[in-house]
Amino acid sequence: MDGKEFRHRGKEVVDYIVDYLESITERRVFPDKKPGFIRDLIPDSAPIDGEKWSDIFKDMETVIMPGVTHWQSPHMHAYFPALNSYPSMLAEMLTNAINCLGFTWASTVLIIMASSPVCTELEMVVMNWLGKMIGLPDEFLHRKEGRGGGVIQTTASECTLISLLAGRYVAIKMYKELFPEATKHEINGKLVAYCSDQAHSSVEKAALIGLVTLRYIESDEDLSMRGDKLLQCIRQDRENGLIPFWVCATLGTTGSCAFDNLQEVADVCYNELLWCHVDAAYAGSAFICPEYRTWLKGIDKADSIAFNPSKWLMVHFDCTAMWVKDSGALHGAFNVNPLYLKHEYSGLAIDYMLCPIVALANPSQQ
Ligand SMILES: *Cc1c(COP(=O)(O)O)cnc(C)c1O
Repeated sequence: MDGKEFRHRGKEVVDYIVDYLESITERRVFPDKKPGFIRDLIPDSAPIDGEKWSDIFKDMETVIMPGVTHWQSPHMHAYFPALNSYPSMLAEMLTNAINCLGFTWASTVLIIMASSPVCTELEMVVMNWLGKMIGLPDEFLHRKEGRGGGVIQTTASECTLISLLAGRYVAIKMYKELFPEATKHEINGKLVAYCSDQAHSSVEKAALIGLVTLRYIESDEDLSMRGDKLLQCIRQDRENGLIPFWVCATLGTTGSCAFDNLQEVADVCYNELLWCHVDAAYAGSAFICPEYRTWLKGIDKADSIAFNPSKWLMVHFDCTAMWVKDSGALHGAFNVNPLYLKHEYSGLAIDYMLCPIVALANPSQQ
């Protein structure tokens, strides 16, 4: 396909999108297909000769749409809202055209894989906007002084894992200083993480990947995790020679939109030197309204927070906004620094690759 045909086909696709969204209520929300249905509709192997776009595009209605669950339908009441919008779709088109990876600030010099400065700079400014919009304390924002700041991650699950691994890094470093003869594997084996019995399954998954024990704190009659129960459990674990290190508080649980008592939980974490992560994936967007921020009280004592603009703010999946107070913990946990990624502003400008999953994909270099 050349530019001339793309102009034509692109407009056709835009028309198709608008027609789809404007008539979505006429479609059945959940498909009535059986597992494996698509095998009868398309060949076992890719064709030797490519097909014409016009033929491929016809498959949208005959092959794809019959198997789609229409999340954008106003009749879809499962899971959570996953709103999109026309401006968000236009932005996707433009970023697809630029199609660069924005993992380091630099664009030239030693770089073989040229990254892109505008990605980093825009992300920092917009993450500050968003942080101010939901009323985060200044320590979570990018500032000239201070090590806080926001970063866009793919999912809330990924943020939970990242914060758990950052907390693990901090705990191991601290215990290595206290007990120099202990190995990091011995310390890791004693680490304990905590969340409410209402927390999202991604917390359990993060603990599995991080090879740490996870304890569920029984929530109260409002399905809220409280400080006293948490503290009791932490003390018990310490008595048994274990190392409590990380807590996930949920603001707006997936099951019932319950809120942990962040003020109490963050207080316990602060006093007991545990990393406090706040999972506000679903309900975090609501903090834009000041009247809902009572639930956010205690955030000044938390270490990281994440919420999903892709759930409620009409931005495409996947987009999770995450802030940390001390990016040094992320740098420590994930820093890899191969020669081919060094640039003349290394250490001066933010390189987002130092924290996201890009660094995780290469554990052999850690
Ligand atoms: C939706 C949700 C998640 C998972 O979000 P992903 O971005 O899909 O990983 C985690 N926690 C809570 C409270 C949620 O509502």
